[in-house]
Amino acid sequence: MFSRYKLTNKIIKYGRMCDEKNFTPGYSGNISARYRDGMLITVSGSSNGYLKPADIVFTNFSGESLEKGKKPSSEKFLHIELYKRRPEFNYIIHVHAPYLSSFASAGRDLMAPVMAENVFYFGGIPLAEYALPSSGQLVENTAKFFDKYDAVLMANHGFIVGSKTIEDAYMKLELAESYAQVVLNTEILGGAKVLDENQAKEILSLR
Ligand SMILES: [Zn+2]
Repeated sequence: MFSRYKLTNKIIKYGRMCDEKNFTPGYSGNISARYRDGMLITVSGSSNGYLKPADIVFTNFSGESLEKGKKPSSEKFLHIELYKRRPEFNYIIHVHAPYLSSFASAGRDLMAPVMAENVFYFGGIPLAEYALPSSGQLVENTAKFFDKYDAVLMANHGFIVGSKTIEDAYMKLELAESYAQVVLNTEILGGAKVLDENQAKEILSLR
């Protein structure tokens, strides 16, 4: 397992990268890394693009801050639930990236097989039903999709992805956001020519 110092630096670095691509405007989003028997997560009210080491807090899986005066992100319970459900996840990135959030806010999932690469990496990106941010209902509505998928749209809210490495979680976020942009563009061009079931199966067999 990486040291706290190294994990903190990774969170800061990828937070900045998310910001550079406008995936995490303003105070939106949060990032965490599995650490010891809990996680390191960005503090409440922090901005992913401008994180300092003091903006990361060690939190146990009951959601309690283990560092005096630091309050973990309000979405901590969603992160905890995903770490419990997916033991191989070591990092989780949650953002309000504009194209993904547009689909989430229009009540549209990204399950249709429009681009081969996305079928390969995601299978599909389902849409979790709306619930109040930071609520137990949001955790329930969203976490269940992670039994089958690694990335989920959250209705009227944003996107969340988990992975074994932060590099992979970030790459999947980049892919998903550009995919959402492509799907939106296809609609301007008269609609995507969706791959058929056999073509989709063929791609999945390459995994
Ligand atoms: Zn959010």
